[in-house]
Amino acid sequence: MKITDVKVVTLGHKLPEPNGCSRGRAISFRGAALVVIETDEGLQGIGEGYGPEYYIVKTIVDRKFKPWLIGEDPLDIERLWRKMLMTTVYWDQKGQGVAAASGVDMALWDLAGKYYGVPTYKLLGGDARGNMKIQAYASDLFWDTPSNMAKTAKKHAAKGFPIVKTHLGNGLVEDEKRVKAIKDAIGDDVGLMVDMNCGYDRVEALKLGRMLEKHGVYWYEEPLSPYDVDGYAYLKSKLDIPIATGENEYTKWGFKELFQKNGVDFAMPDIMRCGGITETKKICALAEAFNIACSPHNYTTGVGLAATLHLIASTPNCDWLELDMADYPLYHSLLKRPLEIDNKGMIKIPQDPGLGVEIRKDILKKYSVN
Ligand SMILES: [Mg+2]
Repeated sequence: MKITDVKVVTLGHKLPEPNGCSRGRAISFRGAALVVIETDEGLQGIGEGYGPEYYIVKTIVDRKFKPWLIGEDPLDIERLWRKMLMTTVYWDQKGQGVAAASGVDMALWDLAGKYYGVPTYKLLGGDARGNMKIQAYASDLFWDTPSNMAKTAKKHAAKGFPIVKTHLGNGLVEDEKRVKAIKDAIGDDVGLMVDMNCGYDRVEALKLGRMLEKHGVYWYEEPLSPYDVDGYAYLKSKLDIPIATGENEYTKWGFKELFQKNGVDFAMPDIMRCGGITETKKICALAEAFNIACSPHNYTTGVGLAATLHLIASTPNCDWLELDMADYPLYHSLLKRPLEIDNKGMIKIPQDPGLGVEIRKDILKKYSVN
């Protein structure tokens, strides 16, 4: 089989209400870069590179990868991955070059599944838990009044998810009001994860962490800048609450530093940016050697969701699928068939060959952006 074409489909959606997170920041637009690989056997692979800056992913794939990918055997995934990384290493060891390679890698794994006629997780090691299911948590609550956030959290908990995640990060006093309100609403049987989106410095982050410990929060996500790996190790030495981080980290080399410095309890590689399925498998293996759990970050379209599902399904030290509960029109609509989620937030592993995704014509027409 040979690659005959590589395209990047760029999609976007303006949110009806901005999603507030730490330090008063808000997300008002979600962009996506989907990589589509065509072959001489008529099979098509679809992947996703981390694409809020979708036009950068498109430019890198079009200009740096496509010219030499055409004519290659798409089943030589390791070799093609290495070549992509070697192409970008001189100017981008952590960033959109790796994200663009991640999108291509994901499309290659989708193609491989279709070529061999099996769902991609079977090529990655099969069902790691033996029950054909993976556990999801409900993500994400965004900054709002304490009572509105509590109401949304309660709605998610009522669907059976054992854990709900919220964004905070606008000062100790205001953060604590929201933690209390959400905890009161969901009760003691449902866990709460708190995500700071890198909002604090070490002094504030330590105070915040102690407050979250007092309220029995399940994990404390990205309190500090991803540059401050020593700061993560410092926080972990002072706090009992598990620290989750890694969505802004890249490749096994980046995670190696985080693990060696003992900076994380739950590693959160993002398949769409850390190096694709190929590299995330290796990051998880590296984490396993440090006895660290992984929970891949997943704020994405349905394509990234599917890749994350297949990866978690086949990886024993992966806990918790991050399931986006927002009404995002590029999420479930890109899956070939609807996810089967039971009343405890367990998701059945999809069985279509490859990743089980498609880009419907109506979606293309409605959400295409340049
Ligand atoms: Mg996060």
